Amino acid sequence: MNIIEISSKFPDELSCIEYAERLRFGNSVRCAYCDSTKLSKRRSDHRHKCTTCNRSTSVTVNTNIHNTRLPLKTWFYAISIITDAKKGLSALQLQRNLDISYPTAFSMYHKLRELMMIENKEIEPLEGIVEMDETYIGGRPRRQSDSSFKPMQREHLDAQIKEANNNGFDFKPKGKNRAKTTKAVLYGRATDNIPVVGIVQRNGDVVAQVMNVLTYENLKTMVKKHVDEANSLLVTDSYSGYKSMKKIIDHIKVDHNRFYSYKGVNSNTIESFWAIIERGIMGQYHSVSAKMLPNYVAEFVYKYNNRKDNDAMFYEMLENLFKRI
Ligand SMILES: [Zn+2]
Repeated sequence: MNIIEISSKFPDELSCIEYAERLRFGNSVRCAYCDSTKLSKRRSDHRHKCTTCNRSTSVTVNTNIHNTRLPLKTWFYAISIITDAKKGLSALQLQRNLDISYPTAFSMYHKLRELMMIENKEIEPLEGIVEMDETYIGGRPRRQSDSSFKPMQREHLDAQIKEANNNGFDFKPKGKNRAKTTKAVLYGRATDNIPVVGIVQRNGDVVAQVMNVLTYENLKTMVKKHVDEANSLLVTDSYSGYKSMKKIIDHIKVDHNRFYSYKGVNSNTIESFWAIIERGIMGQYHSVSAKMLPNYVAEFVYKYNNRKDNDAMFYEMLENLFKRI
């Protein structure tokens, strides 16, 4: 839902309120406290007085935005802008677009990420060829990472790529070798960054979670939770944490020291998800605290899984916003 569509569909505050009321109450608006339909006419502040329990009620009472003082229109627009921004956007951009304060933009975005997190719990078990990998997301700007990149590593990587090319593998890098360079730095198994583990079904959904300690036990738990093991083939790199996966699932490893891909055996799908995360988190948010990282990851998981239908995301977020809690 882009800004033109939303402004024609929801031109004013009343149109947003009426839509939210239909979502929550169906055809007849009820009191959010006692469920009575005996309500006063809509007052100028858009609230109703309930003639049964005598309270002032509105569509936001006892929902995820119970305490909001913002017009619903601002929420509708925020959802539209956020779900439309495939690569993420900063709270600062949201602030500018909606003409609200920075703390307000920040807390709205935070609330919407929480809703995405809840929605992510509904992801169906993954099946077929599933790729699993981990990345490290650091709370530091990329430029700094780049300067720590050692020429030796680059030469080493070049040699590997050349060797693979000689063996008939064409990576076809677009433009400069940017993604490869960044990968070596950001995705290296450094100790000061936070590991995020992801599993993706080819042509399907992704799941990803922050994992403080990368052990076989933790990785196994994640596979068991999210993958239909009987109907899947797991592809990973040769990291030692995946060594025993064959005990629970068919498992094929691609040794990234030798190849990124071999006859279609690769982790390219999860790698491209990491690329979105990297651009999104490092590019837009610059630094992310460890505490907030799961929320940011949730946003990219949610958007990836709904990548084919922007409008569905918009309406799903609205539905969740006005859910009774
Ligand atoms: Zn009532």
